Amino acid sequence: MASPKQFTRVAIVGAGPAGFFTADHLTYGDGGQIVVDLIERLPTPLGLLRYGVAPDHPNIKAAGATFEEILDRPDVNLLCNVDVGNDVTVEEIRANYDAVVYATGASSDRRLGIPGEDLPGSISATSFVKWYNGHPEGDRFDALEAESVAIIGAGNVALDVARILLKSADDFAITDVPHRVLEVLRGNKVRDVHVFGRRGPQYAKFTTKELRELGELDGVDVVLDPRHLEGIDPDGHTPAVKRNLKVLAGWAERELTGAGRRLHLHFDTRPVEVMGQGAMSGLRVEESIGGETRQWDLDAQMMLRSVGYRALPFPGVPFDEETATIPSEASRVVRSGAPSMGEYVVGWVKRGPTGILGTNRADAEDAVESLKADIAGGMYDAGGLKPGVAQLLRDRGISCVDRSSWTAIAAHEALHGETHGRGNVKVDTWDELLDAAGVRSNSPVSQGP
Ligand SMILES: Cc1cc2nc3c(=O)[nH]c(=O)nc-3n(C[C@H](O)[C@H](O)[C@H](O)COP(=O)(O)OP(=O)(O)OC[C@H]3O[C@@H](n4cnc5c(N)ncnc54)[C@H](O)[C@@H]3O)c2cc1C
Repeated sequence: MASPKQFTRVAIVGAGPAGFFTADHLTYGDGGQIVVDLIERLPTPLGLLRYGVAPDHPNIKAAGATFEEILDRPDVNLLCNVDVGNDVTVEEIRANYDAVVYATGASSDRRLGIPGEDLPGSISATSFVKWYNGHPEGDRFDALEAESVAIIGAGNVALDVARILLKSADDFAITDVPHRVLEVLRGNKVRDVHVFGRRGPQYAKFTTKELRELGELDGVDVVLDPRHLEGIDPDGHTPAVKRNLKVLAGWAERELTGAGRRLHLHFDTRPVEVMGQGAMSGLRVEESIGGETRQWDLDAQMMLRSVGYRALPFPGVPFDEETATIPSEASRVVRSGAPSMGEYVVGWVKRGPTGILGTNRADAEDAVESLKADIAGGMYDAGGLKPGVAQLLRDRGISCVDRSSWTAIAAHEALHGETHGRGNVKVDTWDELLDAAGVRSNSPVSQGP
């Protein structure tokens, strides 16, 4: 067996939680033997921790501080504002590193495939989440005029968007939501939010903590028809499902208080058609309850579909369209039916959009175990330390947001918040992020001819 060489250079594509956990496991206590470049398409790191996790969940967001510490390690380099597959190809990455770990997440959404889905007013939760979290790309909502909103999906993202719509805007003044988002939330006209789950409550993917939170909102009544719970034996289910059923049973018995906003929960109900002329005005649904199936129409001016995130393929990397993941074995990317040398995958792009933040830690451990086994097996022993792509990007006129530029963005956001009498406040345009970083835009170069 060849002896392992002294240094191994690893590119991690995607600086979201899975990328950070991988960088952590690769470099923690290894005595500087492994050098990691975290390469990220956006001008900022943290992936869905910054642009997915709800702004009113500061305890989860606090994981960012741990990730910042990883960036302080001398053998971890940050290269944001670099789109792999566009600014630099996968082949170039593979040639300039011993190994590459794909951690590109799942940023696209799934569709319902029902008539009227493309009417104005019908939007993906993905795009709504990006907006309130200040993502520099995607739709902007200048007003929330809908009084009745339908949310399709029975998972935590559906609960997040319901909570954002139902809570008082004042609750967000202490978060980092962009100031223009806060202004729109202040004018939010919503009175009724209807969440629809296709199957029974025992199959909902809510976590109990997030579910319970919705029942504790000031000025909000929860409306749930007890027939949705009939015939379900809690003892036949996992402890997590039992806990959810208990919360729901409590809500089904609650007296309405006449609160100004209402959350309606519907199970065993699927959307059939988005209705409207020129814009959405209602939603036809099919409900199976008490052994009876019937269709009914809901007045609703906005629908958020929250039926799952989906990864997108990128050039040069195998992709399974059916599962929307990069195929792998023990986290090694599979090309033409066999593990490919020097390619690994972690996070949502490996296992699909499931689990909580910590699930990506276990995932990263698995990938690093395989990678370190390959190093120990002498797979990467040719030559000295590989160059990485920083110089290649400079030669190409691509500007990176590195560790110090990211610190400059964070300082700018703190200052920006101060001018509004708030704490940190996100800036939500690509140009302002790059200005704050002191970096110029890549667009004329990276978009090519
Ligand atoms: C709305 C929402 C709310 C959530 N709330 C919670 C919560 O409260 N608690 C919790 O535990 N979990 C929560 N999660 C789950 C958590 O965010 C995910 O588990 C986690 O972000 C997945 O990590 P990832 O690194 O695989 O993907 P991501 O976080 O998506 O990171 C992938 C990164 O790769 C980058 N990238 C993609 N393509 C390229 C490319 N070609 N070149 C370079 N970079 C690229 C992306 O820009 C992104 O930054 C939530 C998820 C969502 C969607």
